[in-house]
Amino acid sequence: MTTTYDALIIGSGQAGTPLSLAMAEAGWKVALIEREHVGGTCINEGYTPTKTMGASARVAYLTSIRGFQVKQRSIS
Ligand SMILES: Cc1cc2nc3c(=O)[nH]c(=O)nc-3n(C[C@H](O)[C@H](O)[C@H](O)COP(=O)(O)OP(=O)(O)OC[C@H]3O[C@@H](n4cnc5c(N)ncnc54)[C@H](O)[C@@H]3O)c2cc1C
Repeated sequence: MTTTYDALIIGSGQAGTPLSLAMAEAGWKVALIEREHVGGTCINEGYTPTKTMGASARVAYLTSIRGFQVKQRSIS
């Protein structure tokens, strides 16, 4: 069985996901291909994880200067 598409988008990051959605909403039959993490760099490795780590570090700092101890666990 052969399936045909109007467009094939490579990568589901900040660029590919909204592009494929817009094309699908315009009536195109679109295939979105992702080799690693759905959502791309921003959600999985970039903005979101780094801002989360920064916010966690800030909370750890603020609690430590008020005399509380934040225990660290290893992350695997
Ligand atoms: C640590 C870090 C922090 C960042 N912080 C910020 C920030 O604070 N603010 C900001 O604006 N930007 C930030 N960025 C940049 C932001 O993440 C990128 O600008 C954005 O993700 C680019 O979107 P994109 O769709 O072009 O690429 P990506 O999000 O990288 O998506 C590309 C996708 O294509 C896939 N792909 C590639 N080749 C293939 C293939 N051959 N077949 C199938 N899939 C493939 C990849 O796996 C990936 O998922 C940060 C980046 C990093 C690394």
